Amino acid sequence: MSVGARERGTVKREVFRLEVCRACGSNKLLLFLQLGPTPAPNGFLKAHHRHQAEKFYPLDVCFCQDCGLVQLAHVVSPQIMFKNYVYIPSTSETMRNHFAGLALDAIKKTAAKEDDLVIDIGSNDGTLLKSFKAHKMKILGVDPAENLVKKANKEGVNTMCALFTNKLAKEIKKKYGKARIITGTNVVAHVHDLNDFLEGINALLSDEGLFICEFPYLIGLLEGIEFDTIYQEHLSYFSISPFNRLLKRHGLTLIDVQRLPVHGGSVRVFVSKKSLPQSMRVKNLLKLEEKKKILKQETYLKFRKKVDKVRHELVQLLWTLRIKNKSIVGYGASAKGNIILNYCRIGPETLDYIVDSISYKQGKFTPGMHIPIFPESKLLEDQPDYTLLLAWNFADEIIKKQSEYRKRGGKFILALPKLTIV
Ligand SMILES: [Zn+2]
Repeated sequence: MSVGARERGTVKREVFRLEVCRACGSNKLLLFLQLGPTPAPNGFLKAHHRHQAEKFYPLDVCFCQDCGLVQLAHVVSPQIMFKNYVYIPSTSETMRNHFAGLALDAIKKTAAKEDDLVIDIGSNDGTLLKSFKAHKMKILGVDPAENLVKKANKEGVNTMCALFTNKLAKEIKKKYGKARIITGTNVVAHVHDLNDFLEGINALLSDEGLFICEFPYLIGLLEGIEFDTIYQEHLSYFSISPFNRLLKRHGLTLIDVQRLPVHGGSVRVFVSKKSLPQSMRVKNLLKLEEKKKILKQETYLKFRKKVDKVRHELVQLLWTLRIKNKSIVGYGASAKGNIILNYCRIGPETLDYIVDSISYKQGKFTPGMHIPIFPESKLLEDQPDYTLLLAWNFADEIIKKQSEYRKRGGKFILALPKLTIV
């Protein structure tokens, strides 16, 4: 019986605690980091909602001492997390180019032909599938976010509104046949029942086909102290070793892996139903993980200490500046930023406001800490002394864009991976 099967009946609850590792079923879970209680990091509030009770969820991170999977100890129901999902990749040119490259790579590796079926799990607004459609492949998207599915179908990307499960995979197979290519970008990290998910992949993938997925790479998270990428919707934080083991248990083979620069360091993995030899790149990454002690608990206890240090140093700096009557604001009302603010308990008493270029966030308040959000133009209007960068993944871009602010004496504070003032 799969691990998830035991808990499948409970997924309907709003939030529940994991008893065993979601990959291997072991109960040897080491709790090494507690970032919560934290609200949903994309739950921006309108002014009149600020006085209503917000929902906070625990954010506890565990390491499985048997298979090495790093995972959250609590699962918030995907119905709550993904029903109205805000991340739309087509808004970013970097992501559009990234997806076009992924489609080409996938077609080349599978020798897919016109009219072969490609299925994208977690297809969002259909950006990736449009790249496959341009190569005349048959496409099908699966995504649980109603708003995005509507948009995709309107734009001619055939998309089902559902969570991908083994049951759904069998229904799809009946209707459309097996797929030559199955893709999933930033989706396996969101899946609670990994075993059921992979059974579904196994049922739906053709023997010559490939399952290609991308997810943030744990080594990037550990080395960059990117604790702000840990939030409720990311249930697993994969390294290659536990992923490799998990696939083997389902008769699947990890044949190749590429490291990618997106999202603070990700990997693209290629999975086959045939037992083909693993590439040198897979072997090299497995060796690297051994060298970096990815399967040792001491690595995670050290990581916790580093996260604590980031919080202490950041809070101390901000308080020192406030005592000296310096004005401080934030830049980038991102999900990552909200995790930092909630974990460090930085609120409007410290940051006067946050500026952000995305218009639907402007005029709202950050979840949990309730800091008001304004357009970027306010930065030059007010010329605050310091600006805390909450979107470090865009740091270079933002600092370049705001050269006038710096010319007039404004300074940027970077919290990760090391506290720096620019
Ligand atoms: Zn495990």
